[in-house]
Amino acid sequence: MNLKDRTALVTGASRGIGRAIALGLAEEGADVAVNYVSSDAAARDVVDQIGKMGRRAILAQADVADYPDTFRMAQQVLAEFGHLDILVNNAGINSDKTFVKMDHSSWRKVLAINLDGVFNCTKAFIEQMIAQQYGRVVNITSVIGQIGNFGQANYAASKAGVAAFTKSLAKELAGKGITVNAVAPGFVETEMVSGVPEKVRAHLLQQIPLKRFGRTEEVARAVVYIVSSDGDYITGAELSMNGGLLM
Ligand code: NAP
Repeated sequence: MNLKDRTALVTGASRGIGRAIALGLAEEGADVAVNYVSSDAAARDVVDQIGKMGRRAILAQADVADYPDTFRMAQQVLAEFGHLDILVNNAGINSDKTFVKMDHSSWRKVLAINLDGVFNCTKAFIEQMIAQQYGRVVNITSVIGQIGNFGQANYAASKAGVAAFTKSLAKELAGKGITVNAVAPGFVETEMVSGVPEKVRAHLLQQIPLKRFGRTEEVARAVVYIVSSDGDYITGAELSMNGGLLM
């Protein structure tokens, strides 16, 4: 097991990609704090599953867009685990509308969770990681941040912001034993894409050389690789996994 004795926090781990990452880290031996904002029962289910693997798992409820709430959660996690080795900033939402129809609150909400949330969580743990001279931070970005998309100006801007944040932090923290990377999935089968109309879905599949959407477990394996010792020489990278949509 590559991650024995490591502790991790995955934001937005109650479902979708975050859930798969939390389970994937635990499978490799890590103890995992499961963050979510409102899906209490779903998050408990993830904690139970990790418990059955013989790892420690804790609930870490907080709204990552809320700076004080994120710090409260970080104190709770550090009190329970003693330290944090791995932070996966995965929590994210979309609120799609063409720019002409996009109101200010939709812009703010997506930026607050997807971009401010990454700042808040990283800020809450970084001093402790610097003190222990070890840390692995992985931010979940998106192919949309790399290519833009019709109706997703807010989402694309948030993800491009996280990608730039990742590279800046990687440079600042490289001398302190901390790597900072991003994983940029293409379209992955989760609730976030379940609302995509059939016609749009078929059109998207036409543009993806591998002719399918990604699976949550595939993203999880990439995160596990980056945070395990196999990924020790990787920092400042944005790993694209999009079935060839962008090449
Ligand atoms: P999802 O199924 O909609 O799950 C979103 C997760 O984020 C849930 O656990 C949710 O918690 C949590 N969350 C939402 N707002 C939060 C907040 N304010 N504070 C804390 N947690 C919050 O999403 P997903 O498809 O797995 O996406 C996960 C990440 O991958 C996102 O950053 C997304 O942008 C990115 N991504 C997704 C795709 C895709 O095709 N699905 C592609 C590229 C990138 P609750 O359950 O409590 O609401």
